[in-house]
Amino acid sequence: MEYRRLGNSGLQVSALSLGSWVTFGSQITDDVAEKLMHTAYEAGVNFFDNAEVYASGKSEIVMGNILKKANWDRSTYIVSSKVFWGGQLPNQKGLMRKHIFEACEGALKRLQVDYLDLFFCHRPDVNTPISETVWAMNTLIQQGKITYWGTSEWTGQQITEAHYWAERYKLIGPIMEQPQYNMFERKKVELDYLPVYKTFGLGTTIWSPLASGLLSGKHINSSPADSRFEMPSMSWLKERVLSEQDKMEKVKQLKTLAEEIVIPLPHLAIGWCLKNPNVSTVILGASKVEQLEQNLLTWDSLPKITDDILLKIEDILQNKPVLITF
Ligand code: NDP
Repeated sequence: MEYRRLGNSGLQVSALSLGSWVTFGSQITDDVAEKLMHTAYEAGVNFFDNAEVYASGKSEIVMGNILKKANWDRSTYIVSSKVFWGGQLPNQKGLMRKHIFEACEGALKRLQVDYLDLFFCHRPDVNTPISETVWAMNTLIQQGKITYWGTSEWTGQQITEAHYWAERYKLIGPIMEQPQYNMFERKKVELDYLPVYKTFGLGTTIWSPLASGLLSGKHINSSPADSRFEMPSMSWLKERVLSEQDKMEKVKQLKTLAEEIVIPLPHLAIGWCLKNPNVSTVILGASKVEQLEQNLLTWDSLPKITDDILLKIEDILQNKPVLITF
């Protein structure tokens, strides 16, 4: 396993990590969740990602039970939660100080840990001043309840504003952002955040490297019955992804390219993310142990993803974000 510093912080995060969205407490049994975490940990994964909203808190309960039973030394893993969608009532959703404090307490209880290593603002909250959120996160750090905080799907401008308030009041600003990043979703990571990597040393924990499984190639003809696309609660995702025929066409061409260099398509897609030096960790998702085992072997295929192959990938994707200058 390779370890990368999370932005300009001192924290070292495994370049491949494991997330629990859709799977823990929902699509898979607790037994499979436990096997996934052990498989990951034994391969050197040190970061497990979670959120208050995943399976309405159940995902954190499942992960907390597994962590407790495993009894791994607390210094050997990093666990996260995210605050935003706590419930439907006023003050159960958003980034006001009240919900940030309550969400943190809730996550600590569900995960059965004394502190969260990473605490993310799951989305921007346009109704709460960013200064209030920065103060609340700084307070949690001072209280020892979290060690680092960050954002998810914020704009570069919003991250910059958070740093402005942090600098003005001598508070600790966000060190990491959790954006979607994969062959089909590139603009934020490859373009929008360029100034914030440079100015603030932002780290990234990127999500959906396989765009929810599409980039595994298994949906080319029809979706397997046991995939997340067939879950009633995920029908919105299936409709959206499968309606984009041009993407499916590109997946077919990527699969042919992966076959040419004799690597599995998931390795090509995950390895492509790992090649970006602004990616601190690629958060993997898996509903089966075999999927995770395969994805963790991406390292073996990395030498085959040469500059020449990267150019061929660009030829297929035709979506490289470009900076428009005048
Ligand atoms: P992926 O895009 O990698 O999708 C993972 C899914 O793809 C698996 O659950 C499985 O689904 C399928 N899959 C994975 N590997 C293989 C394989 N080798 N062969 C075939 N199918 C495979 O990642 P996720 O979308 O799960 O995102 C990863 C993590 O990122 C989440 O768990 C979460 O922690 C985080 N995240 C954060 C978000 C945010 O807003 N901050 C939003 C979304 C995710 P199946 O078997 O069901 O087809």
